[in-house]
Amino acid sequence: MVQDIVIYPDKRLKQISKEVTEFNEELHSLLNDMYDTMLSKKGVGLAAIQIGVAKRALIINLPEDDSDDVIIKKEDTLEIINPIFITKEGSCKHQEGCLSIPGVYEDIERAEHIVLEYQDRYGKKKTIENNEFLAIAIQHEMDHLDGKVFIEKLSILKRKKFEKEWKKRNK
Ligand SMILES: [Zn+2]
Repeated sequence: MVQDIVIYPDKRLKQISKEVTEFNEELHSLLNDMYDTMLSKKGVGLAAIQIGVAKRALIINLPEDDSDDVIIKKEDTLEIINPIFITKEGSCKHQEGCLSIPGVYEDIERAEHIVLEYQDRYGKKKTIENNEFLAIAIQHEMDHLDGKVFIEKLSILKRKKFEKEWKKRNK
């Protein structure tokens, strides 16, 4: 079911999400809701807190190419529960956006190469290694689990500019 997205500066986005301990029906229905919501907003990633649930769960579904008519398949969705970085190295800059801050796109610096340990929806331990856009998307979504949003990574000047424009837009 499609849920409402929590929009910045809603305080819930500052919450530190809790570790998932039960890999049950409730978790699966949360993940399914997250998928429906992400798809309805044409997003590529979503953390549970963005639909108001403070659990360490995120999903990512990157389209294979940039054309508009790519078909997003549910089975291609990466479901990441209780993620922990094993390696984070190098640096790169990419443009990021966020469903909780719609219409805002900024270049953000992130680690280039990551190794991540996580659990799937059944609690099975997995590892992923990446140095492409997936690595950026994972870092973006993991920030949400720790109560952070990407614009917090901007310079003070750019952040002030953003806050001013955001207030104006949401009057
Ligand atoms: Zn986001």
